[in-house]
Amino acid sequence: MRALVWFRRDLRLADNPAVHAASKAEILLPVYIHAPAEAGAWPIDSTVGAAAAWGLHEALQALANELQTRQQQLHIAQGNSLEQLLLFIAQANITHVFWNRQYEPWAITRDKQLKQALRERGIICESFNASLLLEPWNITTREQKPYQVFTPFWKTAQSLLQINAELKAPSTLPPAPRLETKINLATLALKPAIGWDKAFYSHWVLTEKQAQQRLRSFARHEVAEYDTQRDQPAVDGTSALSPYLQLGIISPRQIWRGIEKVRADVAVSQRSALDIYLKELGWREFAYHLLFHFPDTPETALRPAFRRFKWRDLNSVAAQKDLGAWQQGQTGIPIIDAGMRQLWQTGWMHNRVRMLVASFLTKNLRLPWQVGAQWFWDTLLDADLASNTLGWQWSAGCGADAAPYFRIFNPVLQSQKFDSQGEYLLRWLPELSGLAKIATSRKTGGKAEWLHAPWLAPATVLQQAGILLGETYPAPIVDLQQSRVAALAAYQHLKDD
Ligand code: FAD
Repeated sequence: MRALVWFRRDLRLADNPAVHAASKAEILLPVYIHAPAEAGAWPIDSTVGAAAAWGLHEALQALANELQTRQQQLHIAQGNSLEQLLLFIAQANITHVFWNRQYEPWAITRDKQLKQALRERGIICESFNASLLLEPWNITTREQKPYQVFTPFWKTAQSLLQINAELKAPSTLPPAPRLETKINLATLALKPAIGWDKAFYSHWVLTEKQAQQRLRSFARHEVAEYDTQRDQPAVDGTSALSPYLQLGIISPRQIWRGIEKVRADVAVSQRSALDIYLKELGWREFAYHLLFHFPDTPETALRPAFRRFKWRDLNSVAAQKDLGAWQQGQTGIPIIDAGMRQLWQTGWMHNRVRMLVASFLTKNLRLPWQVGAQWFWDTLLDADLASNTLGWQWSAGCGADAAPYFRIFNPVLQSQKFDSQGEYLLRWLPELSGLAKIATSRKTGGKAEWLHAPWLAPATVLQQAGILLGETYPAPIVDLQQSRVAALAAYQHLKDD
């Protein structure tokens, strides 16, 4: 067998069934094909999906390095996937093609056609599941329908789940065919031309080794307190494995095993925290289940009534101004701005804050969830069509198992509750540090609330703190109470229609 392994969103050697199958070949050709045009509105490229494209570059480089230590080479191409595969197949006399499945609707359609085209040419093709715990089509309700509510979905999923032993990364690989390298990684131009990515380097090392280290450290030190710490954005209480999962540098099965490994060492009273963590992987599965069964949900509300919801007109100058302020972390609501700046600078945002900024955009600013999802797609290192769609539809109240539209987060109260000392706020909003000192000082009769809502602080306090609202830090772009009422009215309208 002369095998080609086609890497896609599975940029790792361990626990990789396609690599495992191909590792028995006489000749092995590892390939990556950059084909953003095939992903419709959701590519990962330097213009759209730019943060994830940065990650893709790093992960491809790391994979190429790993292959090199095994006397192998990652062959890179760009353009139409089928055409590029056919070229490789012809040049290296390939007999077998292996890949791991992707579940985005565009990828499913493409891969089906591609598999048929290759088989018609006598090529043996095999695909595997390497990125989900279960195939999305294998979980159905008793009526053989897709689930739309998480809890019963997860119950059924768990009853079907089998976690086998890990496929070890092959220590050696079959030799490479003699083939000229077509293009190098830099040709794909996945990194930005202007350096907005500086802070990314200090936050992320996107290698398989680093993913495994992060998992081990999280399993040893943090997961036992996940239930209490996961909602505090100032604490490193979550695994931060999402960028690794998104690129397939780690698999959910590896994570599952890594967590189960420590179960016996964790106090009995803390073991439920492990289940709460594993349940988050369940939400990821649920997201893929929904995307598979409702493939138009990245653009369209799952709940039909919401398709008529009266969002503000995006073409208006005021709406564009508000959207810009939200994107740039300049809304004047500290927790929202801190989250949006964390996102811009690091390509990641804490889950609690993602929920708050999404609620603020869709409810207080009443801007369509789709523009939020698009911005996240461009700025998140972990941009994932399934989880992003679920997160936005859930937050807007129009998706499966969604937070009801009328449940509107109050960002000030949430900030006080989950970041009471303002540690997270100050990390991203240094311009509020003067206010923090006064707000937390008993001597001056300070109120902690001022840090979470600077517009409530007396003018003298703001002056003392060196803050001029609208100059050194924005005045709030929206009145939280009034906008809440307006959002509820719009929702009522929908119900009355
Ligand atoms: P942990 O708390 O350590 O959880 C472990 C893993 O479970 C995560 O890495 C992730 O794969 C999965 N997970 C956790 N929470 C969720 C969830 N609510 N939905 C689906 N999977 C989950 N996640 C993405 O991976 N990509 C996205 O594009 C994305 N967009 C989102 C948009 C919005 C508006 C919201 C509210 C959430 C979004 N999420 C997205 C889900 C969640 O915020 C992130 O998965 C999580 O913050 C990643 O951090 P972590 O790895 O430390 O998570």
